[in-house]
Amino acid sequence: MKTDWLIVGAGFTGATLAERIASQLNQKVLVVERRDHIGGNSYDCYNEDGILVHKYGSHTFHTNSKMVWDYLSEFTEWRPYFHHVLAVVDGKKIPVPFNLNSIYTLFPQKYAEKLEELLIQHFGYGVKVPILKLRESASGDLGFLADYIYKKVFYRYTLKHWQLDPEQLDPSVTARVPVYISRDNRYFQDTYQGIPKHSYAELFRKMLDHPNIRVLLNTDYREVIDEVQYQRMIYTGPIDAFFNYKHGTLPYRSLRFDFRTLNQEFFQEAGTINYTNEYEFTRILETKHLTGQKAPHTTITYVYPQEYNQDGDPYYPIPRAENRQLYNLYLQEAEQIKDKVLFAGRLADYKYYNMDQAVARALTLFKEIKEGGG
Ligand code: FAD
Ligand code: UDP
Repeated sequence: MKTDWLIVGAGFTGATLAERIASQLNQKVLVVERRDHIGGNSYDCYNEDGILVHKYGSHTFHTNSKMVWDYLSEFTEWRPYFHHVLAVVDGKKIPVPFNLNSIYTLFPQKYAEKLEELLIQHFGYGVKVPILKLRESASGDLGFLADYIYKKVFYRYTLKHWQLDPEQLDPSVTARVPVYISRDNRYFQDTYQGIPKHSYAELFRKMLDHPNIRVLLNTDYREVIDEVQYQRMIYTGPIDAFFNYKHGTLPYRSLRFDFRTLNQEFFQEAGTINYTNEYEFTRILETKHLTGQKAPHTTITYVYPQEYNQDGDPYYPIPRAENRQLYNLYLQEAEQIKDKVLFAGRLADYKYYNMDQAVARALTLFKEIKEGGG
């Protein structure tokens, strides 16, 4: 088989690059995907009960990049949606990111007023403060609040999810969900937010629907590499696997999803409820809140963190200095073969990208390819 480009992986990174190369450069692309579907971890499908579920955990699209939003809008309309997350703390459901409303839900009115006043005095209204920063800088009542949030919202959740405590991870991880001195209960404040109107699967189908693109599912690229004649490869799988783990294995965290269909219209009041203290699972998801699907029954998903092994799914790179050092060894290897193979994506860059970041990364790489510097 002959092609200009061999792209490994049909997630946002692979699909964006395939689409751009096929439509803008008019070159042939073969996308090889080892799963039985396109879409990578953003894939969704109807389950046997007729509910549209996100197979690999809820995916909410959010971005401040007009470029990314406009690009994806060529392939989908959007259902406007603001993600709301609650966490169970001391038996009460509070908004997360932890905000002023969370304070009023948890503490007696007078004390909540005092904490609100102190937070606004110290940081200002509308400011986002990462929990590790708040703990460093706060004393007195704010010190108490910082410790309380750390212990009840972050500590055990992080231990369950990463098997590390928040201090052992790059601070950017917990800073994704900062304490928000605001009454805004939304999980994200990005300018553009939504869910693809007709599903992520349909968005990917449209992206890859081009006469220059062929997609081979259920195939590890290593099974076909000797039979494909290609000019260049773009690889979006785990970078350590590409180099046969020659410098050692990069650690990832994995998840197990336990789906349950219930004979009731809704199970919970928000798309995601975090169990930050109790149980072994971290979250219960209910996708109907995201998709807006009308049905008399619902499907919920329990999310259980688990060890990653090489037969499983490497969902999360683990951001810490020592892992970055190991990744840099692979990056040096990648540099040496960049005329033949390009690496991009959450797994190949070993970076905790959101969907919009994966698309932005792919669009930037495409620009480099087009200008001849890729
Ligand atoms: P992937 O989607 O992982 O795609 C890589 C593909 O490569 C996979 O399909 C894999 O099967 C394939 N592959 C790997 N190795 C091989 C091989 N040897 N041969 C053939 N194929 C191979 N982002 C958001 O913006 N909002 C969210 O709400 C959100 N929620 C998330 C929830 C979870 C549980 C997870 C894990 C991620 C979430 N993300 C979210 C992040 C989002 O999933 C990623 O940003 C996005 O999937 C990255 O796309 P990608 O193409 O780089 O990687
Ligand atoms: N986090 C937490 N408690 C929460 C929400 C998040 O401890 O209620 C921490 C945890 O370490 C998590 C990180 O913040 O892994 C990032 O959270 P995010 O919701 O962005 O995780 P993702 O959706 O990527 O799994």
